[in-house]
Amino acid sequence: MTHRTLGILGTGQLGRMTALAAARLGARCVVLGPGGRESPAGQVAWDTIEADYMDEDALARLADLSDAVTYEFENVPAASVAFLEQRSVPVRPGARLLEVGQNRAAEKAFLNAIGIKTAPWRVVRAPADIPDGPGLLKTLRMGYDGKGQARMEGEPARALASVGGGPALWEGLVDFAAECSVIVARDVRGAVVTYGPARNTHAGGILASSEVPAGLDSATEGKALEMAMALAGAVDLVGVVGLELFVLPDGSLLANEIAPRPHNSGHWTIDACAVSQFENHARAALGLPVVELGRHSDAVMENLIGPEGMARVPALLSDPGACVHLYGKGETRPGRKMGHVTWLAR
Ligand code: AMP
Repeated sequence: MTHRTLGILGTGQLGRMTALAAARLGARCVVLGPGGRESPAGQVAWDTIEADYMDEDALARLADLSDAVTYEFENVPAASVAFLEQRSVPVRPGARLLEVGQNRAAEKAFLNAIGIKTAPWRVVRAPADIPDGPGLLKTLRMGYDGKGQARMEGEPARALASVGGGPALWEGLVDFAAECSVIVARDVRGAVVTYGPARNTHAGGILASSEVPAGLDSATEGKALEMAMALAGAVDLVGVVGLELFVLPDGSLLANEIAPRPHNSGHWTIDACAVSQFENHARAALGLPVVELGRHSDAVMENLIGPEGMARVPALLSDPGACVHLYGKGETRPGRKMGHVTWLAR
């Protein structure tokens, strides 16, 4: 078998962990994005292209080097994916899922259209469009880790201005009992693998921890997995998708968000599963079969965020129960994901 080469748009930690997993399969990765060899993904990749995502010469080089291309974050311009597809290199998952994942209103409409319920939502253009009652406003684009969202408190005009004005997405506030997520991987032949659900906690809109098992009743867990599989089938997924869900007090589920890539709430799969979300992502993107080897340990993953997270590292490194992952980021900033630690139940 000759070397397979996977191109990755994006140079962050998700690309880094995908490249590490791809290496186990004998594949090599070329990453395109900011930071080049100094970036989290560039440090472990076979080759790096330091360029803007819209740089056509750089994209052409990536296409020439790669058997297939994937993206590690959802804000890659759709035009870049279209350009790569024109160069006859498969981009997995494709442009459709990227488009849906880039616009919160398109995402909700799509989920509802395939029968997956969400919180009530609407696109608001002016303060008068904002419904009464508890809710949140979110930017339509470029929102992640709780960025670009505001709780409706007091003045609608001020709330709308705080997310950059209309159009924005208004969403009813969900009084959830828990948050969970499922990771689903699907290959070119349609074989599907699921991970989770994991129970997630957030602090300031950023994922703080994920725990498996989630401790939900088995009917709820089954429904969560079914929703993720339905989503994967509906988009003809080739790759990995994370589906974030709210669990209501009666056990029913509402979708919050989809991420068309490996997901932070699936990092525990590196240490608690023989084949992680990243390996199945690399497998699917390269046209190889995904495999379900299950979870061999219960696990808790905690993100190491900002200076407080990094301050824990020396103690964690000498803790025999801690699987420490650091992303090689040069600068520690408040709120920045610097690494994570997974604790396996023994
Ligand atoms: P998001 O950026 O949409 O993933 O939201 C980040 C976090 O904000 C979620 O994981 C929830 O903890 C909270 N959140 C988002 N939307 C809602 C909602 N409609 N109701 C209650 N909490 C929410």
